[in-house]
Amino acid sequence: MNRPLRHLCYTLIISSLSIFASGQAAEKPNFVIIFCDDLGYGDIGAFGNPSIQTPHLDQMADEGQRWTNFYVGASVCTPSRAALLTGRLPIRNGMMSAKRRVLFPDSTGGLPKSEITIAEVVKDAGYATAAVGKWHLGHLKQHLPTNHGFDSYWGIPYSNDMEAQRGFPNYRQMAQKDPNYVAPIEQYQVPIIHNTTVVERPANQHSITQRYTDKAIDFIKANRSQPFFVYLAHNLPHIPLYAGKDHRGKSRRGIYGDVIEEIDAGVGKILKTLKDLNIDENTLVVFTSDNGPWLPFHTHGGSAGLLREGKGSTFEGGMREPTIFWWPGKVKPGVQMEMGTTMDLLPTFCKLAGSSTPSDRTLDGYDISPLLFGEATMGERKNVYYWRSEQLYAIREGAWKLHFITEGCYGIGPKKQVHESPELYNLEQDPSEKHNVAIHHPEIVARLVASAQAHRDGVEKMEDQLVGRAARE
Ligand code: MG
Repeated sequence: MNRPLRHLCYTLIISSLSIFASGQAAEKPNFVIIFCDDLGYGDIGAFGNPSIQTPHLDQMADEGQRWTNFYVGASVCTPSRAALLTGRLPIRNGMMSAKRRVLFPDSTGGLPKSEITIAEVVKDAGYATAAVGKWHLGHLKQHLPTNHGFDSYWGIPYSNDMEAQRGFPNYRQMAQKDPNYVAPIEQYQVPIIHNTTVVERPANQHSITQRYTDKAIDFIKANRSQPFFVYLAHNLPHIPLYAGKDHRGKSRRGIYGDVIEEIDAGVGKILKTLKDLNIDENTLVVFTSDNGPWLPFHTHGGSAGLLREGKGSTFEGGMREPTIFWWPGKVKPGVQMEMGTTMDLLPTFCKLAGSSTPSDRTLDGYDISPLLFGEATMGERKNVYYWRSEQLYAIREGAWKLHFITEGCYGIGPKKQVHESPELYNLEQDPSEKHNVAIHHPEIVARLVASAQAHRDGVEKMEDQLVGRAARE
């Protein structure tokens, strides 16, 4: 080996050793998103649940920042996930449909390749990336995570109640009767896909939460010395509910509580791994969910706490989620009451990773790091837009929310109602949306009507990606 080359090798070894010794592999922080499915605003201890024990999430909230006004981009799975990963309202990327609300096993569509995901922007900045868990942005090969910026994928590609087989008890009826009912896994022939290959069918859902957590931890350990992004999207607590042997029958809340307590234990294991590897002070962890609780399943569905309605609805219970940000030494501990959304994650991660945000398209998110770090008391976000089925149902501006159209939880609740006189609620004084005060505030109604119209006029809809179906054999 010649001298310059030997010198280079020596320098690389010394710098690797010093990185290893400090544990802080790079200035670029790692990102971990833990994303639940159908978890309600009132389902964890840190957000007031009285009978589900979530000590790890509670500690994460004590050490981190608890957001009480944090939203998703839509009130059901597929469009909500598209919003998180692209930083854009799903109406802009074709992932919201008036005909089919989500993707199904016979769907041919998926997230368009023209969209830019968080994984792609951080990968360009040198990150290792992994998706673990529920995808639901297209299960055909060309739509899977490995084609959207993720180095690897392992999980169920859509909801865990899909590919339901005949000849089994009706889950909804059983759930309404028995808070501890567990369906046979053969009832739901959902696959587990590793990268682009099916490796298990039906997925053994009894162990799915544990295995997702283990996969995320394996990835973190393997990538400890370089910046990484792991997107851990649990399939649960979406029905059918399954808990591992260590948690089954342990909570006071039935199988639903067992599921949440297992997810909580997984959060604890992930945070402990980060601490043990001495990379906790260089890692931002976000915990939230894709939409509110699925109420028709009674005790097998969650609770939106004091918020109205649940999954599928544009009332608060459908779209406001219990959200925690954690990064010891960086995120200022406390309660954050400013508005935020999952669409803020992409621009925030871009800022923290030192990469530029996509400039050739409209983003619906803002960099919220000044709020996280306690450098600002007011966020840039002025509005939340509540879209459903290609229509703008409601708008929030500050404390005020105006409903043009209302509709209850997915599968239950009040039918669609178009309001000739929109309904106005003050979400700070009336978080449960009980008291329509439009008649007392005509000037606020007029202002929000104008804001909503300006927003509608500025939205360019992409062609519906959810309607395509494979021909029947
Ligand atoms: Mg969901």
